[in-house]
Amino acid sequence: MSKGILEKAKTLDPLNPNKSTGIFGGKSSGILNWNDIAYPHWYKMYKRLVGNYWQADEVNMSPDVKQFPELTEQERDAYLKIIGLLSTLDGPQTRTALLISLYATDPSVQSIMAVIAQQEAVHNESYSYVLSSVVSLGEQNESFELGRKDPILLKRNENIIKQYNEFVENPTISNILKTLVYTSLLEGMFFYSGFAFFYNLARRNKMVGTSTMISYINRDELEHGRFIGELFRATLSEHPEENTPEFTDWVYDHFRESVDLEIEWSSYVLEGLEGIDLEEMSGYIKYRANKMLRMMGLSEIYPEHVENPMKWIRAYVDNFDGTKTDFFEQKSRQYTKTSDLNGFDDL
Ligand code: ZN
Ligand code: ZN
Repeated sequence: MSKGILEKAKTLDPLNPNKSTGIFGGKSSGILNWNDIAYPHWYKMYKRLVGNYWQADEVNMSPDVKQFPELTEQERDAYLKIIGLLSTLDGPQTRTALLISLYATDPSVQSIMAVIAQQEAVHNESYSYVLSSVVSLGEQNESFELGRKDPILLKRNENIIKQYNEFVENPTISNILKTLVYTSLLEGMFFYSGFAFFYNLARRNKMVGTSTMISYINRDELEHGRFIGELFRATLSEHPEENTPEFTDWVYDHFRESVDLEIEWSSYVLEGLEGIDLEEMSGYIKYRANKMLRMMGLSEIYPEHVENPMKWIRAYVDNFDGTKTDFFEQKSRQYTKTSDLNGFDDL
C-alpha cells in the first residue's frame, strides 16, 4: 500500500466504520461524528480554525488609500512584489488543501482541510482587495504577474511547485508526506518575511489597514501550520515504513535549501528599506524553520536561532502564536469593520 498510488477516498462507503482506520489509505464510511474520531483533539483544532472566520472587506482600507502614494518608491515596489509573492503561495494552497482532503480517509481531516481551503480562498481574495484599494488595475495585474515572471520569485517557488505538482501526478503516501513538509514550510516560513514587511510599515504607522489584513492571514497560517505538523506526525506514525533516515535527511535538506532561498528572496525584496535589518530577517527565517521542524516532531537545525531575534515583531505575531488571545483587542491598532467595499466590487 505504502509505495502504491492511493485512490481518492470514496465519498460515502456505508460498509466501512464511521471512525476512520487510517488517515490516508484507511477505511471510513464518510460519516463524521466529531465525538468519535481517531484523533479526538483535532476537534479543538477544527473549532479554533472556524473561530477565526473573517472576510477581506471587513477591513477598512481608506487610510491606506491615502497613504500609499506617500510611501517611498522602494516601499511601493516592495509592497507590490510581496503581495505578488503571497498570492503565489495562497493560490496553490487552496487547491493543495483540497487535494489532501480528497485522499484523506478520515472525515475529520476532510472537514479540517475544507476549512483551511476556504481560508486560503479568503487570503487570495484579500490580495485582490488590498491592491484594488491602492493601485490601478494595470498595476494590480502586474503584481499578480510576478509569480509567473520574476526570476528570483520563480527560483524561490521552484521546489514547492515541483513537489505540489508531483503529488498531483503521483498521489503516494511518500508524496503526501513530502507535500506536508512543503505545506509546513509554506504555512510556517515562506509567508513570514512578507508579513514582516507589512508589520514594519505598521510600526511606523503606515498602511495599517493592509497590516491588519496581514495579521488575520498570519493568525490563520499559524493555525494551519500547527495542524499540518500534527497531520504529518500522525501520518508518519501510521506509516512507520516511511520513517527512514533517508526521509528525515530529505526533510532537513529541503528545509535548509528553502531557508537559503528565502533569505535570498528577502534580501532581494527588502534590501535598504527603513526599519528592516536583513541580518535579523535571516535569523527570523531560521527561527521560523526551527519552529516548524519542532512542530513536525523533528530537531532544530539552527541551534543559534531558537529564540526570535526580531524582537519588535513579537508585538504583532507572538500574541496570537500559541493561544487564542484576541490580539486586536489588546493592541491600539486601527481595525474598523466596514461594509464599504472600497471599490472592490469594480473588479
Ligand atoms: Zn493563506
Ligand atoms: Zn494556510
